[in-house]
Amino acid sequence: MSETHKSVFTENGIPFFAGKKVWITGHRGMLGSALVRRFEGENANLLLTSRQELDLCDQRAVLEWVDKNRPELIFHIGAKVGGIHANATLPADFLYDNLMVQSNVMEAAYRSGVKKMVFVASNCTYPTKAEQPIKEDALMTGPLDDNIRAYAISKIAGIEMCRAYNKQHGCNFISIIPPNLYGPGDNYHPQHSHVVAGILRRTHEAKVAGKSEFVVWGDGTPRREILHVDDLADAMKCLMAAPVTHDLFNVGTGHDLAIKDLATLIAEVVGFEGSIVYDTSKPNGTMAKLLDSSRIRALGWEPKISERAGLETSYRDFLKLLETPQSGRL
Ligand code: GDP
Repeated sequence: MSETHKSVFTENGIPFFAGKKVWITGHRGMLGSALVRRFEGENANLLLTSRQELDLCDQRAVLEWVDKNRPELIFHIGAKVGGIHANATLPADFLYDNLMVQSNVMEAAYRSGVKKMVFVASNCTYPTKAEQPIKEDALMTGPLDDNIRAYAISKIAGIEMCRAYNKQHGCNFISIIPPNLYGPGDNYHPQHSHVVAGILRRTHEAKVAGKSEFVVWGDGTPRREILHVDDLADAMKCLMAAPVTHDLFNVGTGHDLAIKDLATLIAEVVGFEGSIVYDTSKPNGTMAKLLDSSRIRALGWEPKISERAGLETSYRDFLKLLETPQSGRL
């Protein structure tokens, strides 16, 4: 493991996370498993619960588990997530699951006196027409994209809950807003995945089938900022360990690209030379979502993984998954 994985923060001369009880919700998902990897060598006492062991939608079970296990720090990642099509077709599931889970985790965290929590929100929370790059104070200043409104509102409620618990109960809960995430552990479901995984799967399938073209949803003009999960995991550790004066942080690369350019880059990584066909029956969604991440940059964090190098790790992950398919990821 490289030194850069480890937290540079100390508390009373001791590495910040050493010996601390750290609960990571959603540790089997793409981001949760990246964070677990990034804790290697930190000597933290990680508390990890599978869905079978603890159903985060079950209020009583969550309160009892937290009371018994007493985490000191929580990374609240566990949530129902999905791409634009999943959001447009399953809005009730997104709203119900996320409101239930985050309410249970936050109330339990407050009652047991958790020292600090980092809650993962989403760039969907910003208005569709927010000024670019989007600053944290653009939250709730305009209408949301229709396709992802239910999910966005669940995450806005989570950000507001953090603020409310801080204000009313003196908690130390902070929220982060990442751009489109990708990396090892992604979900490559043909309809429900996010853009990177969806295009990666289709270019690979087109290559294997010897086709001359591959399909990209929408018209290719929307722009997206993509961030490798390992970079986000490092940012989350930084925000947990650093004394911070804000309750909301954008965490992005500062660079976005048009979907058509992203598709071209993915096709290069996959080694497919065919041309792009646009399926304009699928939504474009928000046209641009570039985040202004200067607030976290001021704390010293910066992304380390280039788009091409990151996409190569995704493609290796996808090829490995094809050899040993895991349910729910394909
Ligand atoms: P969003 O950033 O919240 O909109 O979520 P996504 O990760 O699903 O990205 C959606 C954007 O990528 C839209 O502009 C889609 O039209 C475009 N897109 C192109 N191909 C795909 C694909 O295969 N899957 C997904 N999810 N989006 C795609």
